[in-house]
Formats: sequence, C-alpha cells, structure tokens
Amino acid sequence: MQKRLLALAAAGLLATPALAQTAEKTDAAALAKIKDEGMNRSKVMETAFYLTDVCGPRLAGSEGLSRANAWTKKRLTDYGLTNANIEPWGDFGRGWDIDKSYVAMTAPYYHAMIGVPKAWTPSTPGSLRKQVVVVKATTEADLDKYKGQLRDKIVLLPVAAPLQPSFEPDAKRLSAEDLQKLADAPAATAAAANRPATDPAMAERMATMRAQRELRTKVSAMLMSEGAAAVLSAGRGTDGTVFTTNGAPYAADAKPVLPELEMSSEDQLRLIRLAEAGIPVEIEMETKTRFQTQDLKGYNVVAEIPGTDKKLKSEVVMLGGHLDSWHSATGATDNAAGCAVMMEAVRILKASGLKPRRTIRIALWGEEEQGLHGSRNYVKNHFADPATMQLKPDHEKLAAYFNLDNGAGKIRGIYAQGNEAVKPIFTAWLQPFADLGATTVTSRNTGSTDHVAFDAVGLPGFQFIQDGLDYFARTHHSNQDTYDRLVADDLKQASVVVASFVYNAAMRDQKLPRKPLPTPAKPQ
Ligand SMILES: [Zn+2]
Repeated sequence: MQKRLLALAAAGLLATPALAQTAEKTDAAALAKIKDEGMNRSKVMETAFYLTDVCGPRLAGSEGLSRANAWTKKRLTDYGLTNANIEPWGDFGRGWDIDKSYVAMTAPYYHAMIGVPKAWTPSTPGSLRKQVVVVKATTEADLDKYKGQLRDKIVLLPVAAPLQPSFEPDAKRLSAEDLQKLADAPAATAAAANRPATDPAMAERMATMRAQRELRTKVSAMLMSEGAAAVLSAGRGTDGTVFTTNGAPYAADAKPVLPELEMSSEDQLRLIRLAEAGIPVEIEMETKTRFQTQDLKGYNVVAEIPGTDKKLKSEVVMLGGHLDSWHSATGATDNAAGCAVMMEAVRILKASGLKPRRTIRIALWGEEEQGLHGSRNYVKNHFADPATMQLKPDHEKLAAYFNLDNGAGKIRGIYAQGNEAVKPIFTAWLQPFADLGATTVTSRNTGSTDHVAFDAVGLPGFQFIQDGLDYFARTHHSNQDTYDRLVADDLKQASVVVASFVYNAAMRDQKLPRKPLPTPAKPQ
C-alpha cells in the first residue's frame, strides 16, 4: 500500500491535492482590488476598439499588424510597463496587403457579390470582365476534361456542401453538464501528459483535409498552366459569412498563383447553378494586392511589470495571446479579444498598485495563424528548442504562462494540460470567481494555440476554458469577426480572472509544479 501511495503522491494524484488545496493561500484583499479595478474602471472594450476598428485586419506581415505592434507597445508603456519591445522572432516571409477588392456578376444581370481576396494572392491585371467556367474535380484525372477550355476564363470551384437551414443557435455557453464532463475527464497518466490528444475522428479529418489540400494544389497548377484569368472559390459558411482558408504560400520564394476570391456560399452556388444550366455567366472583378518583401521578419510585442522580491524577481510569470489575425474582418474574437484581456490584466495590476514578487511579462504573439511561429520561436530563442531539449538558463526561471485564444467568451475554468499537480492550485485560485462563472479545472489538454509552444519544452503553459459564443458558427477566421461580436461583460470577467491568476503565480513561494520534461522531438 505504502509504495502505491508514494507512487500516486509522486504522480500528484493523492495526498498533495488536499495538502496543496489547504496550503494554497491567496490574498483576498489584493483580489478584491483586482475585481474592483477590472469591473468598475475597465478599459478592455476601448483596447478592443483600437485593436479592431482602428488597427484593422492584422494578417501576418501586413501593415495592420505593424500598426497593432506599434499601438500596443505604446499603450503598454502608457500603462506603466517597462522594457516594452517589438521583438523580432526570426524570418517569416512576405507581407501582404489589400488595396482594392471588387466582384459582381454582370451577366445574365448585374448583382454585387461577396468575395474576399485569398491571402497572399496577386492582383488582377486591372479590372476583369470574363465568362466563367465551373471546374469540378475529385481526382487529378478529372482535370483532363477541362484542358483547352480555360484560357482567359474566370474559374468557379465548387462549394463544399449544399446549404442546409440551421436550427441551432449560433451562440452558445458551456452548460453545467459540459463543465462537469470536463471536470470528470480522466487524470492524464505521465506518458499521456506530454502526448497531444489523439482522436481517431480528428486524425481522419486531418487526413481528408490533407488530401483536399494536395488536390487543390494540383488544380491551381493546372488552372495556371491553362491560362485561366482568376479563380472564385468558396469554403464553408452560410448567410454571407466567408470563412477564409489558410491562403496561398507566403514564403519569399513561393511559386506564383492566380488571383483568387473566396466567395460567400450563396453567391458561389448561384453562379454555379446558372452556369450549369447553360446560361452564359459573366463576372466583373478587380483585386489590387501588394506584397512586401523589404522586411521578412516576424515580431512579438513584449513588456514587463518588474518583480519586487529580491530573490524571486528574476523569475517570470508570462501571459499572452496572438495579435495577428486573418484579413477578411478585424479579427475581433480571434484574437483581439484575447490580446485586449491580457493588456487589461496588466493594466489592472498596475492601476491597483500591487507589487508582484516575480516579474510579470506580457507577450502579444505574431504569426500564430500560420503555425504558432511567434510563440514557438520565442520559446526557442529564450527557453529551449523542443528538437534538442537543450535548456537555456531562463527555462528554470519561467514560473508559468497563461494564454487566451478560444474566442471572446468569458472564462469558465482552465485546462491543466495533463499537469495533475497544478489542479488543486487552480481550483483554489478559481474559488473567488465562482460567482462569475469560473469554476472548472480539467485534466485535459487543449491545443492549436500558443501555450502549446511552452508545453512542448516542459514549461507550465495553460489555456483557459472559455464560452464559445458564436466562435465556430460565425466568427472564427470569417468576414463576420468584428468588434460587434464582443461582449463587454465577458471580457471584463476574463480580465479579472487572468489578472488574479498571474498575480497569484507571481506571489506564491514556489513556481507552479511542472510535468516531467518531454524527450527531444528530434532523436539525439
Ligand atoms: Zn486564434
């Protein structure tokens, strides 16, 4: 029994929780100050307004992102943070901006249409007015029948699926049942703790998406070689919502592609129905886009609240979210919301006059949408390279990293990312916010955003559990992702929860417990 108890305790599954729970003290007076400042003198919506309506779309390498980098650096300095810096993380690729985009059907009758230039695609040679051809291919062989028919035509690619009415509300909040399921998720074993969740359905979906991407590359090459003028494609989306795809390659040496617009499904389906009925369809379109190749670097914005404790101030608590967005709207829920909350959290801590023992560092990441580039390279430059797991001196100094990038909904809890030992600590930290709906700690991992970069080198990196609202139904990477989708009370709530977690991590005697170090990604 003893031996088994020790093993369980070592794995942080038994004695520790009770001990830690009772032992985990928080400063009620400090938390009250945080709540007061964040709930009664909030600036989070003002920040969100500047990040969205004022800075505009913040695509990687674009002028909008440069505007946001400069604005956030200045605003963080205005809040009283130090060492504010727009720090290059390495080489990204070409910048890209849109100067004009227009599309309409001009035959059989005139009708304006909804279309967004696909990222990193070139301009049309002036205004085009061309006949359309529908190209449908599920295999490469299907393409042969179009050879010789596409020169100087605008090509219509099929819509993924016909539209169906939805009887589901767009916006949702996590139910008590959803939260209970998360809370009951089984404790991760040490081995699983560092392994990304493997979901067979997800693996299958990924394989299908890979095959579709490969076929699409072949279709694009064929259209190019056949001399087509431009492409109109359509992803998922209904009700005029265009969900942008991952764009064309952005590398400095990327092969040329055709001008392309991603259309609303309704408009694309009408064009296809008309053309397939044998009715001549003509499109008038013009895109003016610009590639920027002077500065190929990517950047992160960082700033600090220096620690005050003689011993602990060299240790760092980080918080962050990605500042870049897609380009078809202003990236409000993805991820101006997360950035505004993180900026508000540090503003609250400064305005409350609290003196953290450890240094607090905010990071607003660049180029997340193209593969977590900003955060991965920041971790590699400052802490460790997951390929070799060679630790840098600062690896030891990082007490915790908190991320926000699951939409604009309020915080309902936190993913422990397979780190069982932090669960009782987080449970205690959430208690003062149970009345605001933040209650749940789950053992589960979550992926696809910047905390993963920290987790990959054995650093305690966490993403909060958030209400989805209409993130997946409407705003995630879409032309509907605007300031109007933000809910002030949700962002205020998230700001005080984040500020308190960061403060608690900066004040406790110990850094947060860690999982065992992962093995080098590249065999040594
Ligand atoms: Zn995001």
